[in-house]
Amino acid sequence: MTTDDPRLRLLECLDDAASGIGLFDPDDRLRYANRYMREAYGIAVGAFPYWTDMMRNCFQARAGLLIQTNDINSWLRQVAQRRRQTAVRCFESDMVDGRWMRVTETLHNDGWLLTVVTDVTALKAHESMLQQARDQAVQLAITDPLTGLFNRRHVFARLGALFHQARDLRYPLTLAVIDLDHFKQVNDRYGHSVGDKVLVHFAQKFEARRRPLDLVGRIGGEEFLMVLPNTTVQGARQVLARLREDLTQSLPVPAHPDLALSFSSGLAQMNAQDTEAATLYQRADRALYGAKHEGRARDYDDEPPAPTAT
Ligand code: GH3
Ligand code: MG
Ligand code: MG
Repeated sequence: MTTDDPRLRLLECLDDAASGIGLFDPDDRLRYANRYMREAYGIAVGAFPYWTDMMRNCFQARAGLLIQTNDINSWLRQVAQRRRQTAVRCFESDMVDGRWMRVTETLHNDGWLLTVVTDVTALKAHESMLQQARDQAVQLAITDPLTGLFNRRHVFARLGALFHQARDLRYPLTLAVIDLDHFKQVNDRYGHSVGDKVLVHFAQKFEARRRPLDLVGRIGGEEFLMVLPNTTVQGARQVLARLREDLTQSLPVPAHPDLALSFSSGLAQMNAQDTEAATLYQRADRALYGAKHEGRARDYDDEPPAPTAT
């Protein structure tokens, strides 16, 4: 049937529309649904159910809208509380067949409600791909590619936050700057790629000992930083002693009497004079030179901390 009446033409066109369109009366009974809408929600041609029956039907027939509940009545009560509360409401719905629909409901003053349903499955897939790509990019930006530990930039960024948190909450914070001993000799003797394996070995042991609040990262070639919140220098020494024991397990190169696979560390505990993380780090770094100077394979803190400000 062809006609020039635009209202009738509109109804014809709506039946071919690529979105679902439904119209509910003030009693929430469906009074119009185009073909897309009927197909999406499994509404028979010629049927004009109340909204609640439409939902009940989807639930019982497992068709159309995906309704995950054990109790459809309480689900309906909950959803009904949000329905018809604002002039315009937009939300996304999961469909039983895996599609995602964006639903826009427009409530008119006289209580009639227009529902427009659009398939946004492709958009959602794109969005989640972008999200994954962004997460991956962030991960790459903060990770040292060789060892998988946090990289220098990230560790120093986080150090600042941990420093201020420890100051504000008044708990101790200790840094350990760790440098592998005679590492050049490892490379010279076994080659660079074995040197890399040794670095990874150290990194894995550091990471395995990391407690949930600790921060560990690779801040240079064979240099690492451990940030130990709620830990004194004495506590840090214990952590490092356990690490030294761990390191001897499953070494990637044969033990050799001339080749020490060891590390030195410089320790510094936050004190009242430290107004920022940088000064604390400088003290730990200076202490590292002390450890090297004293013969390596040891921890050193040249400035015992003054009592923390109260
Ligand atoms: P020290 O006990 O005084 O620290 O001696 P060292 O040999 O460890 O110190 P030095 O700074 O002279 O040498 C560090 C070596 O670490 C030199 C460099 O080739 C090596 N290195 C740095 N980054 C990497 C890396 O990514 N892979 C490998 N295999 N070696 C690295
Ligand atoms: Mg070094
Ligand atoms: Mg070194």
